Amino acid sequence: MAQRQTRSGRGGGLVVLGGRDSVGARSAGAVWLVGAGPGDPELLTLKALKTLQKADVVVHDGLVSDEVLALAPQRARRISVAKRKSRHSYSQDEINRMLVAFALDGLTVVRLKGGDPFIFGRGGEELEACRTAGVACHVVPGVTAALAAGANAGAPLTHRGAAQAVTFVTGHASNGAEPDLDWESLARPNQTVVIYMGLSQAAPIAARLMAAGRAGSTPALVAENASRPDERRIVTTLAGLAEAASALSGPALLIVGEAMALAQGHEPAELAAPLREGRA
Ligand code: SAH
Repeated sequence: MAQRQTRSGRGGGLVVLGGRDSVGARSAGAVWLVGAGPGDPELLTLKALKTLQKADVVVHDGLVSDEVLALAPQRARRISVAKRKSRHSYSQDEINRMLVAFALDGLTVVRLKGGDPFIFGRGGEELEACRTAGVACHVVPGVTAALAAGANAGAPLTHRGAAQAVTFVTGHASNGAEPDLDWESLARPNQTVVIYMGLSQAAPIAARLMAAGRAGSTPALVAENASRPDERRIVTTLAGLAEAASALSGPALLIVGEAMALAQGHEPAELAAPLREGRA
């Protein structure tokens, strides 16, 4: 913004020179891609909270919890662009255009996304759309689901001697088929593989990893609704991953790796029984 402090002949003061802040013109809007974290509002960063509090419009997806949304100012317009099976969902292109249009209208637009905007959040596409339109775009990182899942289970994603690397992969393929991943590399021991959006593909994913050489006995964790009041965790093995996943339906992560031996589940009895038998 063309703003300069100048000394005028009499008295001096702040003089605004040109730019869109001139009298009568709207100030320039901007888009903020804000990570809302995994659900627990206490896992929001201070920067995310401050940004949210100055929003004119909040465009949020389905993973953002109500408690986090409640922190936006009352006057802020809230628009859900959550994916819906029955009704019209906004396409990514429509979302991009919406963000740009609000910002060009001079509004402070907060695009609130579950977890971190740049981890399987399509934040990159929204950033590119803003850049193309000449709209300022800022990114506020968030706690991605994997970090909350590991923390709550008491299982580190990297661990001396057991996990020298951690890889975040998507279990989702655009055509609904199996994900096209580098199974050979993911099958190597002593690393943690975190699979986002993999619940419905747990069986083929586990089969691929084992076929590529990862031991069926490798510890695994399935974490659903991590950091939310209805969080559920199932501690299993790679061989038991598909069965564990079939018991869950919410947003969930599959985490496979030796370090998951430290994970603590809180398994509802009816889910745990067949798994325990399987392990015995
Ligand atoms: N940007 C988000 C991920 C979006 S992809 C992030 O950084 O966390 C959506 C997937 O994230 C879901 O299918 C699920 O695999 C995972 N996910 C998001 N929130 C979750 C939560 N609270 N608990 C477990 N998995 C979660």
